[in-house]
Amino acid sequence: MLQSHTDNRRTIGSYWEASVPEPRLDRQLIGNALFDVAVVGAGYAGLSAALKLAQAGVSVCVLEVEHVGYGASGRNGGFCCLGGTKLNERQLIRAFGLEEARKFVAFQVAGVNLVAHRLDSWGVDADRHSKGEVFLAHRPKDTAGLQSEGAFLKETFGIKTRYLSKDDLDAEGHGGPGFHGGLHVPYGFALNPMAYVQALAEQVRTAGGKIFGKSPVTALSQDGDRWRLETGYGLVRAKKVVLAGNGYAREDVPKWLHGRTLPVMSSIQVTRPLSEDELSAQGWTSDTMSADTRILLHYFRLLPDRRFLFGTRGGIFENEPSLAAMRKRARSDFENMFPAWAHVEAEFSWYGHVCLARRLTPFVGEVPGMAGVYAAMGWHGSGIAMASISGEKIAGLITGKLRREDLPAPLQRPFARFPLPGLRKLYLQGAYWWYGIKDR
Ligand SMILES: Cc1cc2nc3c(=O)[nH]c(=O)nc-3n(C[C@H](O)[C@H](O)[C@H](O)COP(=O)(O)OP(=O)(O)OC[C@H]3O[C@@H](n4cnc5c(N)ncnc54)[C@H](O)[C@@H]3O)c2cc1C
Repeated sequence: MLQSHTDNRRTIGSYWEASVPEPRLDRQLIGNALFDVAVVGAGYAGLSAALKLAQAGVSVCVLEVEHVGYGASGRNGGFCCLGGTKLNERQLIRAFGLEEARKFVAFQVAGVNLVAHRLDSWGVDADRHSKGEVFLAHRPKDTAGLQSEGAFLKETFGIKTRYLSKDDLDAEGHGGPGFHGGLHVPYGFALNPMAYVQALAEQVRTAGGKIFGKSPVTALSQDGDRWRLETGYGLVRAKKVVLAGNGYAREDVPKWLHGRTLPVMSSIQVTRPLSEDELSAQGWTSDTMSADTRILLHYFRLLPDRRFLFGTRGGIFENEPSLAAMRKRARSDFENMFPAWAHVEAEFSWYGHVCLARRLTPFVGEVPGMAGVYAAMGWHGSGIAMASISGEKIAGLITGKLRREDLPAPLQRPFARFPLPGLRKLYLQGAYWWYGIKDR
């Protein structure tokens, strides 16, 4: 049942906010506090680091601008799947060698398993469904690429992919005039992302970690043998710091971050529940998580209550005309891809930031030149599994249980700065234009 909340959270109008019970609001940090570790950001990465640290007996706090799940962890599509980089497997092999690429793929699988294990062991259902995900060829010519990709993943990484012809797609409830073949990847499942992040936060509190809401970190500086984190009404002094702001991170906290990430918008619409007749009219009855083969991809799935979630890239600017254009484009894509549902209204529509990096891989490690400050960010739009496991690994680096070289090589590279960072939005505009042409 949908919920209506009366608290003073800064809401964004998402379906997830309405689909979970009233969350607990953590109090604001007021005054001075000492902790061993201070984590910046209450999403999957920051909370996962805090949980592991608190369980190891480390005194840890999480400082959050708004509330748990305010960032992408409470806004995403709920595809708990492989990913975390924009490099494909062949590019990973070229850049890091086969062994490291295999290690990285195994790390992604471990991330998915970690989230499943957490939900099971905490007794959280989070509306799980879907066994793996399906990538759908949006042009007939893309079916050959999907088949060879499937064979490559099987041979090189042991991923048991399955190719689906157009007939298979129709038979399995992935109908639609724009889908010509599919590749099923057997890893991953769908979940309610807000239910997961709230359950994670509750585990942090139970383990003794402190979470402070409405406590934006506005400055980070060295203070003797500690780091000093200033928030609106408070000050934390901590021996170690974890930066986990991802697409919501401030570029000046710390200054090292300036120009090293590219926050990009992704947008989601969720329809009203569809009737059985409407589902049959489109030929879409599968609840398997799906995405198309466009570079500017669309991701979609039928939710357990028969609503349809449809996600796509966002716009460039966050002003109202630009956001309105983004909603219009997303709606038009939805109607083109699911013509039988052109009359079905979207009851929820929202967007959020994902975090890209210049070299297209995440960074999980100690920030160069800032001993004791760690970062875990840059999941390239697939962070449910990746941020969760990487947060745990950061805790391992902090407690000394893990060495940097234990991580897959693609995670070890600190972010490089974008050339002329002030022009990042222009690069993005150019890239969208070019990818749009390639996708046609
Ligand atoms: C619309 C959308 C759809 C997506 N769909 C999927 C999907 O289906 N599957 C998937 O795997 N991934 C998806 N993602 C990506 C995924 O949600 C993110 O990669 C993941 O949630 C990142 O987690 P995080 O903890 O690193 O960052 P976030 O969840 O973004 O959390 C960062 C937090 O840090 C806080 N913060 C930032 N700066 C400060 C500061 N100075 N002081 C205090 N707090 C600060 C922010 O308020 C925020 O709450 C999607 C993202 C979006 C936006």
